[in-house]
Amino acid sequence: MKTDVFPYAFFQGKIVPIEKAKISIMTNGFQYGTGYFAGIRGYYSEKQKSLYIFRLDDHFYRFLGSAKILGCKFPYSHTELKKNLIDLVKKNKPKANTYFRPFAYVGNTEIGPNLANTTLSFAIYMIPLEEYMPLDKGLSLLVSSWQRISDNAIPSRAKVSGGYINSSLARKEAADGGFDEAIMLNKFGRVAEGSAENLFIVRNGTLITPDLSEGILEGITRRSVLQLAQDIGIQTIERPIERSELYIADEVFLTGTGCQIAWVEQIDKRHIGSGKIGPVTDKLRETFFRIVKGEDKQYEEWRTKIKV
Ligand code: PMP
Repeated sequence: MKTDVFPYAFFQGKIVPIEKAKISIMTNGFQYGTGYFAGIRGYYSEKQKSLYIFRLDDHFYRFLGSAKILGCKFPYSHTELKKNLIDLVKKNKPKANTYFRPFAYVGNTEIGPNLANTTLSFAIYMIPLEEYMPLDKGLSLLVSSWQRISDNAIPSRAKVSGGYINSSLARKEAADGGFDEAIMLNKFGRVAEGSAENLFIVRNGTLITPDLSEGILEGITRRSVLQLAQDIGIQTIERPIERSELYIADEVFLTGTGCQIAWVEQIDKRHIGSGKIGPVTDKLRETFFRIVKGEDKQYEEWRTKIKV
């Protein structure tokens, strides 16, 4: 499948045509997965002739946190990162919903998976993106036999490139079995998250999600959904979830920059709740989409508006 891409990328300190944004096959980050990335969405408003970028500040705070976790030097400040991305938007002028992929990687060509004394290289490219996962139907999930990486193996709260082999194996297992997505359990056998999504369940009107010490990514959509739920009066709890609790939940949904809020119809061939989208999921989804598209004046601090 060929992916569309906007014509310009940020690469080696400047904006260049995407064809020029190339690295050597010997690059350390390519060989060993020594890098990390972000995934950010921009929602295009035809009416406003603007792109609304969702929680740009938070994405770049997490991005800089990943450099700290790896213990590498990173060449840009938070302000510079934002400027680089905004300059790129102005150059590409996207008239569509957009996904940004900023990434940092060990750019040298030395042999050996080395992070010591390293200054990371950095790039951003942009693609048009609508749905990453189907939103018009409920998802069918598989509890994967692959265990979610734990903090002391590959830090799960950093979006480390090499760590995504874990996600890929789980996704492959799910796809091979005819499922839409996988749920991984952590080293304690409790529910962690999907291959690129956090997970929520609803029981008796309460919204529950694994707490941050369960070996999960500190998802920005997760954080937003918790806040929205609290603000509309839904009780929320962050606590461990066991596998069998998934099967008897009233509602289950996944959150992530890619999938946004995607409801789950089945897990391991067991129907969840009524088998239809549940009221809590529906309400949160509707609120979320109004906010990200800038149709709701609330939560303005979550949107960076760029005229295009
Ligand atoms: N977990 C993993 C492993 C992910 O890769 C992602 C996608 N970034 C998420 C959860 C969701 O995080 P966010 O809402 O910040 O996109």
